[in-house]
Amino acid sequence: MPQMFFDEGALISVLTAQPLDRALDYKAPEGGCHLGAFVEVPLGPRKVVGVVWGAGQGNFDYNKVRKVMRVLDAAPMRAEMVSFLEKSAAYTLTPLSAMLRLATRAPGLGDPPSMQKVYRRGIGEPDRVTKARTQVLDTLQEYGDLSFTLKELADMAGVTSSVIKGLVKQEVVREEESPRDLPFLPLDPDLPSKNLSDDQAAGAQVLAAGVASGNYGTTLLRGVTGSGKTEVYLEAVAAALRAGRQALVLLPEIALTSEFLTRVEARFGAKPAEWHSGATMTERRRIWRMVGQGQAQLVIGARSALFLPFQNLGLIVVDEEHDTSYKQEEGVLYNARDMAVLRASICGAHVVLASATPSLETWANAQAGKYAKLELKSRFGPAVMPTMGTIDMRAEGLPSDRWISPTLKAQVDARLAKGEQAMLFINRRGYAPVTLCRACGHQIACDHCDARMVEHRFLKRLICHQCGESKEMPEACPSCEVEGKLAAVGPGVERLGEEAHALWPDARVATLSSDMYGTARALKAEIAGIAEGAADIVIGTQLVAKGHNFPNLTLVGVIDADLGLAGSDLRAAERTFQLMRQVAGRAGRAEAPGTALLQTYQPDHPVIRSILDGDEEGFWQAEAKEREQAGMPPYGRLAGIILSGPDVAAVFEAGNQLARNDRALRDVGAQVFGPAPAPIARVRGRHRVRLLVKADKTVALQRALAKWVSQIRLKGDLRLAVDIDPQSF
Ligand code: ADP
Ligand code: ZN
Repeated sequence: MPQMFFDEGALISVLTAQPLDRALDYKAPEGGCHLGAFVEVPLGPRKVVGVVWGAGQGNFDYNKVRKVMRVLDAAPMRAEMVSFLEKSAAYTLTPLSAMLRLATRAPGLGDPPSMQKVYRRGIGEPDRVTKARTQVLDTLQEYGDLSFTLKELADMAGVTSSVIKGLVKQEVVREEESPRDLPFLPLDPDLPSKNLSDDQAAGAQVLAAGVASGNYGTTLLRGVTGSGKTEVYLEAVAAALRAGRQALVLLPEIALTSEFLTRVEARFGAKPAEWHSGATMTERRRIWRMVGQGQAQLVIGARSALFLPFQNLGLIVVDEEHDTSYKQEEGVLYNARDMAVLRASICGAHVVLASATPSLETWANAQAGKYAKLELKSRFGPAVMPTMGTIDMRAEGLPSDRWISPTLKAQVDARLAKGEQAMLFINRRGYAPVTLCRACGHQIACDHCDARMVEHRFLKRLICHQCGESKEMPEACPSCEVEGKLAAVGPGVERLGEEAHALWPDARVATLSSDMYGTARALKAEIAGIAEGAADIVIGTQLVAKGHNFPNLTLVGVIDADLGLAGSDLRAAERTFQLMRQVAGRAGRAEAPGTALLQTYQPDHPVIRSILDGDEEGFWQAEAKEREQAGMPPYGRLAGIILSGPDVAAVFEAGNQLARNDRALRDVGAQVFGPAPAPIARVRGRHRVRLLVKADKTVALQRALAKWVSQIRLKGDLRLAVDIDPQSF
């Protein structure tokens, strides 16, 4: 359908990603422009990118209205995308401009695709070795065959471009002309798939039919880890490709492994587009454009891929749909799983939500019949679900500063003797969660956040996991100034690695924590190595719980199964259940059967019991009942209002003022709680308080909320953010 066209000089309104909250009037440029066109407009002294949003408002003197500078070389934004941005802005109560920013994040948007110089490893060797030159060579080595622009390479290697130019002269680095946008090779949906089991084939057929119908629909694809959910949803992808439509597979950032991409490539005969935060600028630009032209058929990406300009999207898969990383917690607060459903409903696409342990929200939607349900009941092939058990830590008599119980050690020994792999899991990054002064009792905390500094011995620094602030490990206590008394308290993944080295000096121990690898690529390589048997014992955090396939791994030991159960968060049980079941699922993925052992001080805790029993349906039903009784999501509606500012008194004052003037909420029967310190009470020097608003499922909460918060004038440096469906409550 051709989009509306504006002739030169016509009054149009242009939305930019600038925080203005509304579209501004401009005159259409020479040659006119289409509705949805990406344009460059003057804004004060600057030039910014915007989108032609509609006809102008005409509130100002026409003669003073400025003219669009140029139309950028990108396909106009489609009506579907406009609708998606408007609806998601309304749902999350985010200014439209902030939403637009998510959709225009392709850097260099609008530069024409042209030839450019790119650089890669050449055949020569440097005449003289310098530190800077070594950095360039190491960077190129790490990226194998890829080429980069001069600036990208210089930035990555941390050198000036003259170093690279110097290496070009010696043919150490090769300079080539390359078109900006290399097309993606075509994917072939008709290459043979794996031989699917009856269960899998039936599921694949249902999904394929859903996709082929061309109508919106959401299906929960549930199946234990290793049941072959991926194989099944790849058939849904095939159906989309056959129908000439594009497909998007969302993964939690961390699960974007080369193993996964290899599987996709094997199925379709060529590489899909890979959209994630580690992609180079050139690559992002290319994907953005190719997706917009419909040339990229399949995108595998992290949550922000939802905002790519798909032309003809027929399928969105959200793998590990329960994963908390789908919720963006900074800037625009949105849950990619929910936005995927919204986007699909707008463009008539099918959604597959895949998980072994779905979120309670999704489970309830399936239960209520809003989503279709598919289930894979057993692991594929000979693999069976791991046997689960607990180790009662009260009876193990461990000395302090040791975390691997004698029982667990014996179990690991037995695996090592058989040449199998074992994994020890702890959900804590760094060396130790607390650094304590043994002289005065002081605990080192972040100067800007309400959080302890975590020692990272590998990086030789103390790091705040809230704001990322880091500093050198001091010699003396910052409080009492006594030297040599700072002690690490409690276990982190690095410390557990140390203990494992001491217990099994002859074993190959691999410690996997995202901060221990310089680049995503290095981490991927390590994971691939482990899958091929390059380690005997794998020590890891959350990172290893997601999606990896280690065929020779037969034992998983959870060091602290109680960790997630502390605290008052209503979701604690759900989270722990999901995480433990998922970690356990790493064991016994191939022929050899697996075992998962949970070290716990509360073996009789109901959540621990239900994890062991594996009675998932029973667990969800009990959880659902509790939430329903409390009127909490997904049975009631909840929103958080987070006020933040440098002055704690002013922040609370604003919170109290809102709480007092709750007329707009009372009118719809909603209740407000708080203000109370937010779950993270201080970040980057800003104090944060939260009000929670609770309402019946039937209430049009967004409208009431908008009215309610609009009464408050934010003074000075105060800021307000709305968090619809907060993750913790
Ligand atoms: P899930 O996504 O449910 O955890 P996967 O799709 O990753 O499960 O499958 C687990 C393992 O079993 C993978 O190595 C996969 O290649 C293999 N597998 C699953 N189904 C089949 C099949 N039909 N034929 C061959 N291998 C399969
Ligand atoms: Zn901090």
